[in-house]
Amino acid sequence: MRVVVARPRGFCAGVDRAIEIVELALASYGSPVYVRHAIVHNKHVVHTLEVKGAVFVEEISDIPDDSMVVFSAHGVSPAVWQEIEERNNTGANLEVIDATCPLVTKVHMEVRKYSKDGYEIILVGHRGHVEVLGTSGEAPEHVLLVSTAQDAERVTVSDPSKVAYVTQTTLSLDDTSEIVDILRKRFPQIRGPKKPDICYATQNRQDAVKELASFCDVIYIVGSEESSNTKRLVETAILCGVPARLVENAEALKDILEKDRPRDNAVIGLSSGASTPETLVNEVIEIFRTLGVERVEELKGVEEIIQFPPPRSLREISKGEKDGE
Ligand code: SF4
Repeated sequence: MRVVVARPRGFCAGVDRAIEIVELALASYGSPVYVRHAIVHNKHVVHTLEVKGAVFVEEISDIPDDSMVVFSAHGVSPAVWQEIEERNNTGANLEVIDATCPLVTKVHMEVRKYSKDGYEIILVGHRGHVEVLGTSGEAPEHVLLVSTAQDAERVTVSDPSKVAYVTQTTLSLDDTSEIVDILRKRFPQIRGPKKPDICYATQNRQDAVKELASFCDVIYIVGSEESSNTKRLVETAILCGVPARLVENAEALKDILEKDRPRDNAVIGLSSGASTPETLVNEVIEIFRTLGVERVEELKGVEEIIQFPPPRSLREISKGEKDGE
């Protein structure tokens, strides 16, 4: 049995930044720091930050007055900012640090612009996903949600010459291309990005899984069920014809292997979602070593050099705290 690990895998620049923001906020202001929604969709990350003093809530109304608030990497709708403003108008004194990934913010800005110019906007994304709720909240009256090719065939717009599209950042590249092709055919004047808004990290991880699928017998993707980009990696492998499983962590893998163990000379592919810490991948590799795997190789892959630094004001406060220690 041999294990081949995808590259790139794991944390992207937006996830790195969001986690660093919570850590800097805790270091600068002390605990608790309230985070609206899971900062990124990974249980291990959330638990680690909880231990350090972060408190995760879904509703602004659950945050007490005089608190530091962080918005998660997935972004929020203007209605959430409005809620903060209303609380502050009654003396709540909530201070917000926005950890929205800049690539999600870019999509929000596209929606704002199209809506201002009088366009109806087709948002390609998954119903109920927190990023989609935030993006559609930029112009709820003008956004139509499309999740599947069938939706794209059926969606109706009031003026086909005034329609635009945007997408969620963590979709399947192949499914989204199919949907966008249908929209372009039905609405030849549709405006939109040259390429869907799927982010570089989602694209690179799906490409790496496709490469694994070209020679692996089975693929395991480490990450949480709530993570959209992680689930898309599993689907990518399956669409390439290779059995694939999502594994939350080493314990979950042990359970899976008890019932369904790869044959002794199998080539096992391994990758992880953009919100999965590398420690979880290493723990999974250790499980395979206990099964006798000696060779662990890594794909050459592309090198990701994109970085999104946290807000300068937060870095300066945190640096000041350290200097003053
Ligand atoms: Fe940003 Fe993409 Fe990472 Fe989401 S997956 S946080 S959009 S870089």
